[in-house]
Amino acid sequence: MEYYSLHRKSPSVTFRNAVIQGLAPDKGLYFPKSITPLGRHFFEDIEQLTDEEIAFQAIRQFVGDEIPEAELRNIVSETLSFPFPLVEVGKNVFSLELFHGPTLAFKDVGARFMARCVGYFNRADPHARNTVLVATSGDTGGAVASGFLNVPGVEIVILYPDGKVSDIQERQLTTYGRNISALRVDGVFDDCQAMVKAAFLDPDLAHLNLTSANSINVARWLPQMFYFFFAYKRLKSLGRPLVVSCPSGNFGNICAGVLAKKLGLPIAHFVASTNANDTVPRFLKSWEYDPKPSVETLSNAMDVGNPSNFIRIRELYGDDKSKFDTEFSSYPFSDEETSDAIQIIFERFGYVLEPHGAVAYLGLQKELARFPDAVGIFLETAHPVKFREIAEKILSFPIEVPAQIEELMRLKKVSSRIGDYGQLKSFLLKQK
Ligand SMILES: *Cc1c(COP(=O)(O)O)cnc(C)c1O
Repeated sequence: MEYYSLHRKSPSVTFRNAVIQGLAPDKGLYFPKSITPLGRHFFEDIEQLTDEEIAFQAIRQFVGDEIPEAELRNIVSETLSFPFPLVEVGKNVFSLELFHGPTLAFKDVGARFMARCVGYFNRADPHARNTVLVATSGDTGGAVASGFLNVPGVEIVILYPDGKVSDIQERQLTTYGRNISALRVDGVFDDCQAMVKAAFLDPDLAHLNLTSANSINVARWLPQMFYFFFAYKRLKSLGRPLVVSCPSGNFGNICAGVLAKKLGLPIAHFVASTNANDTVPRFLKSWEYDPKPSVETLSNAMDVGNPSNFIRIRELYGDDKSKFDTEFSSYPFSDEETSDAIQIIFERFGYVLEPHGAVAYLGLQKELARFPDAVGIFLETAHPVKFREIAEKILSFPIEVPAQIEELMRLKKVSSRIGDYGQLKSFLLKQK
């Protein structure tokens, strides 16, 4: 499969090169040259297919012949090594729990798939060497570290703001060792990101083949469509229209849902639920794209002022306003509405939400008021324990700690402290 740059000023590349480069040389995001809907039989028979078969059929055309079928099936099956429960939370409202992976965040799916693709490409070329450089405000770094642990030929360097990630998140970045290095930056997330950007542009580091592992990378973005298919398979027999709400920051997750629909998946309506970072809800009202600097909220993994993947959604809809009007909504919610939702949903249904899932729940409720016949799904993207301090303050009882985390609490945190770009550069130049 070929991928073109959405800035349309760089040549098209193969899937492999899109994955290895991350971003096109003209700084555009890569986008598949063709999208062929899955046949009618696929959807008629979907309840008979295993989740692994569904995922393989969905992703296959986007990889093409660059990874052999048996290998791709293997990658898909290793990516999906944990469950994706759909839990009923009130009448006709379901939580699609995406937090049962190794780092308890939905980002595990994309990170595990991308790591295994890079691992395959590097096995085919024993001289290949890449360095994945990640700036994280919390969840991305842990999922990438866990996904890429021991992948041959790849060094992972994670930058995070010192003192600004939770204890659990810091443990997920700093306890792996091996090919994973963690750098704690004297500054905020924006400083980490600025250093990463400077490194990508630095000709002295060209030999390291630096790449990124956030949802701009096609191998992280595309597999996120899998669980939209799984949810449909489980609710198909109800025969009702589906409305899906995603808690949205960089808009990679919801963009994968819109792609699944383009492949034929019958989802009636999407809701991109945001916190106070409301660039997309404002755009859909005025049709003027006016990004703002991000503001801090309770759902901090969605504190994004200029969502990188929104341009892919515009491409999928051919920038057609009437399509957006009928199929896609976006609503912002305040921190106060978010905490109230966490409290009310626990009181009413005994279900514990964390702030991102709570935002998605609110967006779903708003949309279901317009679709009384529909069944609603909201994506719960992280385990409440990852936002333990917030959840415990609102609910006044301790959140249960899952086994994945208990293990981490026993390991030693290892990281190096850096203060400026010069220190990052010398760290990278000393890498093997
Ligand atoms: C990253 C993240 C999001 C936002 O996902 P996007 O694909 O960037 O829109 C939502 N919730 C959690 C818990 C996250 O870590």
